[in-house]
Amino acid sequence: MSDLSEEEILSQFALNGQFIPEHEDTKPFTSVKQQETNEDRKRKAEQLEWMECPVCLETPRRAPIYSCKKGHIICKDCQPRVGHCPTCRDKHVDCRSLIAEKLLETTLKDYPLHCKFRVHGCSVQDLVENLENHETVCMFRSVKCPANHRGACSWMGPLNKLIQHVIQVKCAQVVKAKPSNSYFVSTIGDFSQDQTVFSKSTPTHWKPVMLISQEALKFFCYAIFYRDASGYWYAYVRSFAPTAVMKTLRVDIRIKKMGVASDHGQFVYTGGVASSEASEQEIREAGDFLLLRDCQVKKFQVNKTIMEYNITLSQVGSESASEIISIPD
Ligand SMILES: [Zn+2]
Ligand SMILES: [Zn+2]
Ligand SMILES: [Zn+2]
Ligand SMILES: [Zn+2]
Repeated sequence: MSDLSEEEILSQFALNGQFIPEHEDTKPFTSVKQQETNEDRKRKAEQLEWMECPVCLETPRRAPIYSCKKGHIICKDCQPRVGHCPTCRDKHVDCRSLIAEKLLETTLKDYPLHCKFRVHGCSVQDLVENLENHETVCMFRSVKCPANHRGACSWMGPLNKLIQHVIQVKCAQVVKAKPSNSYFVSTIGDFSQDQTVFSKSTPTHWKPVMLISQEALKFFCYAIFYRDASGYWYAYVRSFAPTAVMKTLRVDIRIKKMGVASDHGQFVYTGGVASSEASEQEIREAGDFLLLRDCQVKKFQVNKTIMEYNITLSQVGSESASEIISIPD
């Protein structure tokens, strides 16, 4: 596992990089399709077109639908942003179009829509109520680069392209697992030449560390290390996995002197993993991090290597949780 090439990582990811198998309820919708005639479907597609919003060019998925006095439709997301009807310039765009709402509801009841990340390659089609669940866990959903929090990278793109992105741009470090499959070892370095992080009075962020192994690819975890302006060190792990899966993850972070095998003197955090979307404040409140002071970290420094970290990822299983992440063969 430690000698995976980048292509191997990416191809494994293509195989494993799916948080959930297609459940019954997220499978492309076929039962109704088969019963329905092509005529029915054509008619419904047409009806949905009538309800397309002229501003965002999307068909709304649910009520309310607004209109001007003449009946030109506008969706609930665009309505607050326009001062007049985009079709006839009528100033009143706050009428509810109850007939359009009713028509939409009836049409969508048995008409599967495409996942909104279809443009990124997702092929899932389902009824609105299932689709919204799917879209929160879709492997093609848009995510921010992990280096975003330190202002170092503004990339945003589909989750299934993230590893490729960080490998190409080098905005995150990629650490591959040691053979036990979820055990990661690397080091944190000091500034080059005669500068040292210990004399900084501004925060210092290291590149996020993507934790790559066959197992970890399912959870999309990365480690964050930073030292704040007053000499406190934070180490924690975040995950892009959906909340239900994320809550089953446990991480063990050990900070020590490089190459020292003994457990003596090391600092340990064992606990939960934070969401990729959690704010710093939320992580503080949850306590999902290892907190150290300069004096504790300094004693591990050897030349320009400040410390070694060992990270072990594991999953505690409720049955439903292990079911969620099992990968079909
Ligand atoms: Zn709109
Ligand atoms: Zn109008
Ligand atoms: Zn999708
Ligand atoms: Zn990036």
